Amino acid sequence: MKPVIAVSGLRKTYGSGETAVHALRGVDLRVWPGEYVAIMGASGSGKSTLLNMLGCLDTPTSGRYLLDGFSVADLNERQLALLRNRKIGFIFQSFNLVPRTSALSNVELPMVYSGLKRGERRRRALAALEMVGLTDRAKHLPNELSGGQQQRVAVARALVGGPALLLADEPTGNLDHASTVDVLGVFDRLNALGRTVVVITHEDEVAHHARRVVRVSDGRIVSDEVRTGVVA
Ligand code: ADP
Ligand code: MG
Repeated sequence: MKPVIAVSGLRKTYGSGETAVHALRGVDLRVWPGEYVAIMGASGSGKSTLLNMLGCLDTPTSGRYLLDGFSVADLNERQLALLRNRKIGFIFQSFNLVPRTSALSNVELPMVYSGLKRGERRRRALAALEMVGLTDRAKHLPNELSGGQQQRVAVARALVGGPALLLADEPTGNLDHASTVDVLGVFDRLNALGRTVVVITHEDEVAHHARRVVRVSDGRIVSDEVRTGVVA
């Protein structure tokens, strides 16, 4: 089995000289298929920077990153965009749904340029909505859905291409408690079905669902523990 994520010696420095910010100071991390990992840390510890590197949204200052076996540094812009689209499903704090278009259309969106036929896109989008428990809301507009339901649509959209990795940055940051429980339930279910999930969070409640908790402080991993007595 090969790791979904394999980073070593990952560093990221913003700026240079006296004003340089060392956001990542040498991170080594492996995530295996089927894992459910929470990356935790205080504000400013480097979590989003790490997510940007893992998600190929930004390039590290130095270090090595293999995403599902592919060396990210060796790819050009176009190859990187392709790899990112194929391998990673992103979930952010803001749901970023397209307003005035149905949940179903939102989930179909990533497949528009995939070359798949319309009927197949629809079939896959409906299957993804079913996985997040929203079959009966497929025709609804985002503003007709609760925050938790909107985030579940965003999860379905992230899932629909069959990515190797679901990467979420503070996915429950905008949600009330009931919706948080709802969305975490979806992550639990997806992980139980074999999906690899990496969630960046500062909330204990979120981390309690993960099977492994990686703590980041001042740009370094300070602990990496497999949890026992997991909720899910
Ligand atoms: P977290 O997500 O854990 O709150 P970040 O990764 O956003 O932490 O930030 C880590 C450090 O890097 C902070 O000191 C932050 O101010 C700094 N930082 C983040 N992004 C940039 C940027 N684009 N330019 C300069 N400094 C940045
Ligand atoms: Mg952040």
